[in-house]
Amino acid sequence: MGVIERYKEYLPVSDKTPVISLEEGDTPLVNAEPIAERIGKGYNVWLKYEGLNPTGSFKDRGMTMAVSKAVEEGSKAVACASTGNTSASAAAFSARAKIKCIVVIPEGAIALGKLAQTLIHGAKVIAIKGNFDQALDIVKELTDKYPITLVNSINPYRIEGQKTGAFEICDKLGKAPYYHALPVGNAGNITAYWKGYTEYKEKGKIDSLPKMLGFQAAGSAPIVEGKVIKEPKTLATAIKIGNPASWKQAEEARDASGGMIAKVTEEEIIEAYKILANEVGIFAEPASAASVAGILKKAGEGYFEELKPGDERDIVCVLTGHGLKDPDRAIKCLDHPPIVEAKLEAVLKEAGL
Ligand SMILES: *Cc1c(COP(=O)(O)O)cnc(C)c1O
Repeated sequence: MGVIERYKEYLPVSDKTPVISLEEGDTPLVNAEPIAERIGKGYNVWLKYEGLNPTGSFKDRGMTMAVSKAVEEGSKAVACASTGNTSASAAAFSARAKIKCIVVIPEGAIALGKLAQTLIHGAKVIAIKGNFDQALDIVKELTDKYPITLVNSINPYRIEGQKTGAFEICDKLGKAPYYHALPVGNAGNITAYWKGYTEYKEKGKIDSLPKMLGFQAAGSAPIVEGKVIKEPKTLATAIKIGNPASWKQAEEARDASGGMIAKVTEEEIIEAYKILANEVGIFAEPASAASVAGILKKAGEGYFEELKPGDERDIVCVLTGHGLKDPDRAIKCLDHPPIVEAKLEAVLKEAGL
């Protein structure tokens, strides 16, 4: 069962909505002892591994809603601007719905796996000589002028679908976490999670709300800097956004929850990326690692207070996308395997045995 069927009482759907689903959601919430040890002070750390969605990112939660509603409204085509994962998801759900999908991407800025997915699902992909923010402006104008549905996260149904991530975390923990950490790009996801938690509290499913901790990459941290970044830079391409579409909502989530939005450096992202793979056993894409990099950094700055014995607090980090999305990055930040003679002794020697 996908997220629409599981959570339909919380979503703007009716019996007439054609549900376009790939059985998205229901992703694991993995306990992460190696991260918790680094945080110390008695906290539990959980990783919501969204890389296990059908197209390998959390975007599928929102896309099942956006494409289902587009079909319900009679739309024959969807369009999006994308740093990669939105387009992969839009392309897959459009293929399933048998509608057209038009994707505008910044030239050369899309991770290989994401581009491959978008193309193999049959989307019409157009690269522009510009950045994501310019691509989004073009797609907004295109969908204003033509009967094509915009499926970027400014589409409210995207946010509706994505809020189901918060429901799943609460259903699993039996309460809301104390802290909820995630990477922030266009800020749709922080908006969606906050909406999900808030609605669950209103419905009496949870008693308290988490503090939202959003992390941007230092070279593309418009919300932290308080200004649009004209040329955002970061190796975490999924959060390489200079002018977030849901900027205001992200600040609201931060302020209403008593949380923060802070930045992490490229080195901190890569370090967290490697810890996740090496010690936790989860390969997430660099943008995802920003959530873990963020809590490790804040722990180093003394942000998390020492818990009293018997007190329990959960920190949930969302790992937004799968590491295989961006294989180049993994290869680039590691040593290449040595090549030796085709002899057992040579392999033993190299293996240190
Ligand atoms: C889209 C995306 C983000 C950023 O989410 P926003 O809703 O744009 O803030 C982070 N990580 C990954 C892997 C993504 O695909």
